[in-house]
Amino acid sequence: MRFPPQSGDKPLSYVLVKDYDISINILKAEVMPGKRGNLLLEMEATEENIEKGIAYLKEHHVECQPLDKQIKLDQERCISCGNCTAVCFAGALTMNPETWELEFNKDECVACELCVKACPLGLFEIHFSNGD
Ligand code: SF4
Ligand code: SF4
Repeated sequence: MRFPPQSGDKPLSYVLVKDYDISINILKAEVMPGKRGNLLLEMEATEENIEKGIAYLKEHHVECQPLDKQIKLDQERCISCGNCTAVCFAGALTMNPETWELEFNKDECVACELCVKACPLGLFEIHFSNGD
């Protein structure tokens, strides 16, 4: 979401939660009072409520761009230290109990980014795309 300067003091996220029953997880925020702001967030609700919520945001001059977020792992450089498995609550990163090598199940990944900081070698990267 991109906010025009005049939207900074409006409780838009609060309205999405309260009036449209949308669960929000703010992943990144650059919002300064009186300035243009950017918010990267995940929304969870019925499709209908999300559409209504986005229509509400557009009425308040907020630009909305749906994005797909993916976590990429440079597995060839992985030393299987296991650090990232300790933070991956979704169970996408696990140690193979036979080989003790890291396994990454992308289907389980919720792109929470916790592994990005956990890896001492910086092997995780975040990729955004607009689905095209
Ligand atoms: S982004 Fe989150 S869910 Fe995905 S692999 Fe990393 S820690 Fe696990
Ligand atoms: S933290 Fe990094 S090096 Fe360690 S197992 Fe995970 S991806 Fe591999």
